[in-house]
Amino acid sequence: MLFSRGVTKIKALIVDKGTVELRDTPVPRPDPDRDEILIRVKKAGICSTDFEVIEGMINFSGVLGHEFVGVVENDPSGGLEGKRVVGEINIPCWECSRCQKNQYKHCLNIETLGMRRRDGVFAEFLTLPRSNVHLVPKSITDNEAVFTEPLAAAVEIAEQYHLKPSEPITIIGDGRLGLVTARALWGMGYSIEVIGRHQDKLATLDLPGITAHLEADFPAEKHTDLPVVIEASGSTSGLEKALQLTAPRGKIIYKTTTAQSHEINLADLAIDEIQLLGSRCGPFAPALNLLARNDLHLEELITAEYSLDEAKLALKKAAQKSSLKVILKP
Ligand SMILES: [Zn+2]
Ligand SMILES: [Zn+2]
Repeated sequence: MLFSRGVTKIKALIVDKGTVELRDTPVPRPDPDRDEILIRVKKAGICSTDFEVIEGMINFSGVLGHEFVGVVENDPSGGLEGKRVVGEINIPCWECSRCQKNQYKHCLNIETLGMRRRDGVFAEFLTLPRSNVHLVPKSITDNEAVFTEPLAAAVEIAEQYHLKPSEPITIIGDGRLGLVTARALWGMGYSIEVIGRHQDKLATLDLPGITAHLEADFPAEKHTDLPVVIEASGSTSGLEKALQLTAPRGKIIYKTTTAQSHEINLADLAIDEIQLLGSRCGPFAPALNLLARNDLHLEELITAEYSLDEAKLALKKAAQKSSLKVILKP
């Protein structure tokens, strides 16, 4: 046990006012009043949101990162020690007016791993309330489990907006977000079309039931009337493209969280009576079921793995346009 071995400091990647530094920080202590457990991080995934934190679009200082798989090191009430787990990233207060309406994701006092009021996962250890933690089935590898969070967000799209399995889904964007979303919905049985700008990234979608197109070869005039378009490009131009492609009374699901502003004519939204819907974060249990029952070819999305000591190098790699998922191993 960590505490009885006299370990008092752990390594963690700390973001503070635009600087990112690997530092020794005190071992996080599970709070018994919140039924917290201590988890040793095995692998963590770098995501575009982490860069939004570093760049200050999300105002946070503390340990960065939110996508991880780990092993329970200390469970004060017993039962979970030694178990392999993943963890939901939002910790609601359970008491505010939104929590009273079961809108936990929009809790007024929310804590979010590596983003809001809560240290993240680019560290040797983290604490989480028991209710956030999910056991990882044996058949799922660490390199798959580390994708649970972005997969859960993709599952949420289908759940939240009642997407029909008989209707094809078009995804704009071939970055990390687009490629993981495509795999999740593909695993759920939907027909998927992905529009991107990078031949090498689109090539990872060579799976039966997914069609990939270079944007230049997919003129909107020829492909209008798509029933469901997911905008996952991460760029300001994606919504314009989505509006051109979506059928009257169709749905655009907006996943991009760029802080950049952009001028756009929304007349088609009214004229074509298009529904523009936002979505983020989702349920882990169905995402883990999806992973346990399907080979989603996620390991093909891993560009590189680095030790936590090389975290700054890893961030540099993840920021490169050609990179997909970069993994940290504390
Ligand atoms: Zn993420
Ligand atoms: Zn609340």
